[in-house]
Order: sequence, then structure tokens, then C-alpha cells
Amino acid sequence: MNIQMQISGLIIMFLLLYFYKRHETMGLYTEQLFGKALYITIICLILDIISIALIAKQELFPMRAVKIECKAYLASLILNGYMAINYASADTHNLTKVNKLIRKCGWVVGAYCLLVMVLPVELFREGRTVYTYGAACSATYIGALSMILGTVFIVFRHGKLMNPKRRRAIRLWMSIWMAAALIQFLNSQLLLVGFASAMGMVILFFELENPDANIDRRTGFFNSFAFAEYLKQKYREGAELSGMLVTFEDSHTRSVPTDQVEAAMLEIAAFMRRIPEARIFKTDDKEFTLVLESREALERAFRIIDERFQGSWLEFDKNRPNISLQPYYVKVPSGKVAKDAAEMLGMLKYFRIHCMDSPENRVLVVDEANAAKKRAREEMLRTILVAMEEDRVEVFFQPIYATAEKKFVSAEALVRIRNTDGSIIPPGLFIPVAEETGMISKIGEHVFEKTCQFIKEHDIEQYGIAYLEVNLSVVQCESKTLAETYIGIMDKYQIDPKLVNLEITESASIVRKKTLLKNMNTLIDYGVSFSLDDFGNGQSNLNYIVDMPVKIVKFDRDMTQAYFENKKAQFVLKAAMNMIHDMHLHVVSEGVETAEQLAALEQLGIDYVQGYYFSKPIEARAFIEFLKVKNG
Ligand code: C2E
Ligand code: MG
Ligand code: MG
Repeated sequence: MNIQMQISGLIIMFLLLYFYKRHETMGLYTEQLFGKALYITIICLILDIISIALIAKQELFPMRAVKIECKAYLASLILNGYMAINYASADTHNLTKVNKLIRKCGWVVGAYCLLVMVLPVELFREGRTVYTYGAACSATYIGALSMILGTVFIVFRHGKLMNPKRRRAIRLWMSIWMAAALIQFLNSQLLLVGFASAMGMVILFFELENPDANIDRRTGFFNSFAFAEYLKQKYREGAELSGMLVTFEDSHTRSVPTDQVEAAMLEIAAFMRRIPEARIFKTDDKEFTLVLESREALERAFRIIDERFQGSWLEFDKNRPNISLQPYYVKVPSGKVAKDAAEMLGMLKYFRIHCMDSPENRVLVVDEANAAKKRAREEMLRTILVAMEEDRVEVFFQPIYATAEKKFVSAEALVRIRNTDGSIIPPGLFIPVAEETGMISKIGEHVFEKTCQFIKEHDIEQYGIAYLEVNLSVVQCESKTLAETYIGIMDKYQIDPKLVNLEITESASIVRKKTLLKNMNTLIDYGVSFSLDDFGNGQSNLNYIVDMPVKIVKFDRDMTQAYFENKKAQFVLKAAMNMIHDMHLHVVSEGVETAEQLAALEQLGIDYVQGYYFSKPIEARAFIEFLKVKNG
């Protein structure tokens, strides 16, 4: 019975070896260890089978030879245990003292195997039952058990640093092994340990080491999982690497059948395969990531690809007129810009999106400056999240003066983050990050809710305030639920909607404009009014005023300041104001800083004035005090 178990184990191992060797591996440290473990398990099983056969037919062979063979089997079990402990610490390769110690202990294990070889062993045979016992066997039990316990210790101690799949697989492997060893210890006739080793290999193979899982099926390149593992190992080894991500976008706006794109990607893959010195990964549908040994190799690879794609991909244009694939490059001259593999993966993902956002700039270089920018952005995102959670996102108000009534009739709500030390972060530093990450919607709603609460608490009309202006980000305007959410907030505080004016800015996209218009009309029906902010900042389009149902147009600070510095700008501002007045809309001039500027604008006929001359944006309490004094 016993020999059948070993033979089945051996057959399974040969099958595994066949599947393992069928594909190229990346030469990762874990792959190397798995490969060695696989061979040692096979040797172990072969020695096991031979030893059983030799004990059964011991009369036919010299006793010395039989015993040496049996001891060689025992020693191979210890080596197998050593492979397990090595494999378990593979994720912490070079990182932990334990891993370094284990690798240094190779010769101790070797010496222990020699000890097993010199210790006496006894053979037992009765009917069909055969096994060994004696000092060599005891030493093997002690050695193998120490390895198993060591492996369990590593999983326990460094489990968090390990690949969760590896952790799970090793736990299972060790459980099977221990159960087998225990059974064999209690009943020496059941020789299960060799078979248990084979089962361990099967578990590792299916959980982690199947090379198939690392390969992109269509192109045969290593895939993104493999890339992540590869990077992890390279960073652990402290290797100096360069890299480049090349991603393809179809520059036609009409959609192209996916089979055509796939065929094109296969052609590109065939071309990529010919690039020398590069290890290539297919990291996404239309994306390849190349790893190179040096900056110079990176530049050479870049030139080869870029030359090929200059203009357009000609063959495609001939064969498939629908496709015009444009490459975008993210170059990383030195992997040292990231501290580890996880950060590098994050950077590639981030810069890839950035690169594709600006079609005119198809090459983005991830250097120290860019990496620092990304880190600062992440830091800022964390700051925003914590501030939101700790309710440190505040609203300041900047009064707006009506030139006809000669008093303050309005104010603009402006967001601020208060640091834990009481200092203030201005919106210019966090709004761009918030817009990029979508956090702006949460912030915008928060500011709106605080403004509504302020209106309600202070009954602001009693201070002469007709409405408060609140900024809307373009990102918010794209949301189909904006109107519903804002109406919900006004309902919650039972605010008269005429006390609310929302500031929008221009958006280039027609689709966005449609959604915005829908939102605006719903809110206008509810009673809210709108302003067009930042008019004059360079992207202004008079048509926008015509198309959008706004009541107020806000001239931005640059336009206001230019009026006092430049004759031509005076004509522009005057003409714009007259046109806006003809449309029965009102004008606010922002950024007024001196009495002379105020006087000039009043004389010109500007309706409202906002600026440091009257007040910087101030806290709610200070704003109420301001109104009490100024509006009497
Ligand atoms: P904005 O909406 O055009 O707001 C006017 C900005 O000009 C404010 O800057 C204000 O402090 C500043 N300002 C006003 N008068 C003067 C002046 O006389 N001199 C100078 N030098 N500056 C003046 P702030 O508060 O730093 O806000 C900057 C921008 O951040 C805002 O420009 C707006 O685009 C954005 N923002 C502020 N709060 C929010 C918000 O709650 N949501 C959204 N989406 N954006 C906001
Ligand atoms: Mg504004
Ligand atoms: Mg403005």
C-alpha cells in the first residue's frame, strides 16, 4: 500500500513539473525556490520508493548499500523541510533578520544531513510492512520537525509581510505535513511524509506558482500580476532599473470594433518582441511596460518605438482605416524615484492618466520633481480627508458691496481648511487636488450645508444681506444629482432659495454643459439664482453668458486690475459691462484693493464690488460683526 502512495505522489510531481516547465518563468526568487523544492520533492519520493523496494528485497543487495540509500532518503526529507522554511520567508527576502539567518544556515542543514548519513539506521520488515527506525530516523524527525516549526514561526511572525496567498498555502502545506508526520510517528507502517510533501507542492502550484497565471494569453508576454511580483523582487534586491510604460489610445473619436483593436495590439506585440535589452510586460489591454537595465537602454528602446510610431502606424492605416493608435509614454529613467514597488506601481498608474490627459505632451518623465509633486498631492489628499473627518473644513465669507445702495448686500462663501495648529490652508492649495480626485463634490456640499446653516442661524436678511454666493466646481456640475442634493440641503435647513446664488465657471465640454444646464434649470425653478464666475480669466466666451441662465457675471481680479493698468483693457471691460447690462444682468468686479479703484468702478457703473479694499474673506462671526458695523 505504502509504495502505491509514493508512486502516485511521484506521478503527480512529474505532471506538475511538466506544467511548470511548459512556460517561461521570470526567474523570481520565489520561482527559483519553488523550482528547487519541486526537484527535491521528486528526489525525495524516488529515494523513498527505492528504499521501500530495497528493504523489501534486502537479501538481494549488500546491507550497507541498502542502509545508505535509506539514510539518503531521510536526509532528503530534511532538505525538503529546509526548502519549506526558505520558501516561507521568501516574501521577506533580504528584509528580515530571520530571512538572512535562514539563508546563512544552509551549511548547518548540510552538516545535519551528513550527521543523519553517519548515524545508525535499522530496517524493519514483516509481511508487506517495511520501515526504518533507529538514531538516523530520530534525528530526521527532530530536524524535519524543527523546520516545520520554524516555518510555522515565520508565518506567525512575518505573516503581515507575506503575500496572503503564500501565507494561506504554506499554512495548509504545513498542516498536511504535520498530520502526516504525526500519523507516521504513531504508526510507523504508514509512510505518508513523502506523499504529504507532494501535496504541499500541488497546493503551492495552484495557489501561486502556476506560470500560466502570469502570462497574458493573447500576446504571451508576462502580465500585470507578474510585473507587480517582478518589481517587488527587484526593489527588495535594491536593483538599479529603468522603465517605460507605453500605452496606446485610438485618436479617432468613433468607436472601433474590439477585434480590430485586438488584432492591432497583436501586431504591436510582435513589434515589441523585437526590441533588444527589454523585459516586456503586457500590463493592460493596450499597454506594455518595458523594464530596462539602464537609462541609455531606456532611451534606445524609446527611440525605436517612437520612430516606428512617428506620424501613424502605417500598416494599420492601410489595412484597418478605422484605427489610428497613438502611443503615450511614461518614462522612468531611474526606479529610485519610488521607495518601493507599491509606490512605483502607483506612480505608473497616476502618470499614465496624466500623460493621456494632455495629448500634445505624449511623453511624461517621472523624475524626482514629478514624483515629489505626486507625493505632495497624496499628502494633500490625506490632509483633506482628515480635515473633513475632524470637521476642520470651514467657510469664510467675503463681503460684496452694492454701489447703488452703498452697502453690503451679499458675500461669497469661500472654503478654508484649518490645520490642527489653527493655521489656514487656502483653497488654491487643495481645490485642484480635490477636483482631480472627486473629493470636491463632498467639499462643495459641505460648504453649501455650512452656508445654509449660517443663513438659518443668523437670519442674515436682518443684516441687509439679500443672498450668499457659493462656488460650484465644474466636477460638481457634471453630476446628474447636483440639483437634487442641493435642494435636499436647502429643505433640511428650510432656507428661502432666493438667499442662495451659485457661482459656476465655464466648461469647455458640450456634454457637461448639457448636464449643467439641466441642473441649473431645476435649481432656478426652485428659486436659486446663478452667477458666472471668473469672467475675463482668458477662457471667457461671451456665448456662455448668452446660453447660460445666469443673473450675475463676475469679472475676475485680473480683468479688474487690468482696467487700471491698460487703456485697451478699459475698453474691453467697459464694452463687456455694457453688453451684460443690455442683457439685464448684473456685474461684480472682484479684486478691488484701493479706494481709487472703487471710485473708478462706481463711476463706470459696475453694480457690485468685492475685494480686499473692504475685507478679506473672514470667519462667520467676524462677518456678522462686520455687517453690524458697516450696514448699521
Ligand atoms: P473665486 O471664486 O474667484 O474667489 C475669489 C478669490 O479671490 C478668493 O480667493 C478671494 O479671497 C480672492 N480675492 C478677493 N478679493 C481679492 C483682492 O482684492 N485681492 C486678492 N489678491 N484676492 C482677492 P480664495 O478664497 O483663495 O479662493 C480661490 C478660489 O478657490 C476661488 O476663486 C474659487 O475658485 C475656489 N474656491 C473657494 N472656495 C470654494 C468652494 O467652496 N468650492 C469651490 N468649488 N471652489 C472654491
Ligand atoms: Mg467664486
Ligand atoms: Mg472669481
